[in-house]
Amino acid sequence: MTAERSPEAVDDRVEMLAGWLRSARSAVVFTGAGVSTESGIPDFRGPDGLWRRVNPANFTIRRYLEDPEVRRESWERFKTGGVYGQAEPNPAHYAIAELVRAGLVKWVITQNIDSLHHRAGTPPERIIELHGNLRFAKCLGCRRRFEKAEALALPADPSDGVPRCPDCGGLLKSGTVSFGEPLPADELARAEEAAQTSDLFIVVGSSLVVYPAAYLPLHALDAGARLVIINLGDTPLDHLAHLLIPAPAGEVLPKVAGLALEHRT
Ligand code: NAD
Repeated sequence: MTAERSPEAVDDRVEMLAGWLRSARSAVVFTGAGVSTESGIPDFRGPDGLWRRVNPANFTIRRYLEDPEVRRESWERFKTGGVYGQAEPNPAHYAIAELVRAGLVKWVITQNIDSLHHRAGTPPERIIELHGNLRFAKCLGCRRRFEKAEALALPADPSDGVPRCPDCGGLLKSGTVSFGEPLPADELARAEEAAQTSDLFIVVGSSLVVYPAAYLPLHALDAGARLVIINLGDTPLDHLAHLLIPAPAGEVLPKVAGLALEHRT
């Protein structure tokens, strides 16, 4: 379908999506970095994306294991929260939280690590985080999880500034998934089930090129769901979408939520 960018076309699509949400039995919102750009966090592949400034090769698990300086920088970002530390949820996160609390959206599956869905008030049991988060650290040896405060209280190894696991001596790393690391199996299984049982699957702010996360809209389509893509840039799945809304998520979603909730019986 062609994605008209005129304000009237966007308003019509917003209304259509609000109607679909009201009648959906199992709607899923699937978010990527684009849902958080209006909170001041750059995405990876947009026009102001991070990949224009930093080298993605430094964010692989291999580099983390091989290079003490990569580990030192990564642990410093974990300590301070880096670019994520100062960010606040934006109207898109709040609108999604409202839709979940009202029962119109069943699951929020996110590729983001910024915890902004939690902070906007989406109930944690409704959020599936595919790429981990910065609220905890993990041991790369025995996989033990450490809450952030617990991890930061451990003595740092002088070679790289990163603590070692008190149980097995393994290397710690923030609870995010680096390139080359497997996705958390339990979260991926929950996300696949949510997609396979959804009847409305709404992508928000994702270029849909990072796999296996980008398979999820395809699982939903296979299950007979309607696919909606709210994204500023093009995605490889645009031609399969039932509705494209090429406008900022922070403008679109509050309107969608307002209409969907206003007309509820
Ligand atoms: P991406 O950078 O590949 O794509 C983001 C997409 O969002 C782009 O197509 C862009 O056009 C669109 N976009 C940007 N701002 C938008 C807005 N306001 N409204 C609507 N669309 C907007 O992001 P991705 O697909 O999520 O893949 C990147 C990977 O990087 C993910 O795995 C994610 O975990 C990670 N990441 C996370 C964060 C975060 O936690 N906030 C930030 C950067 C990257």
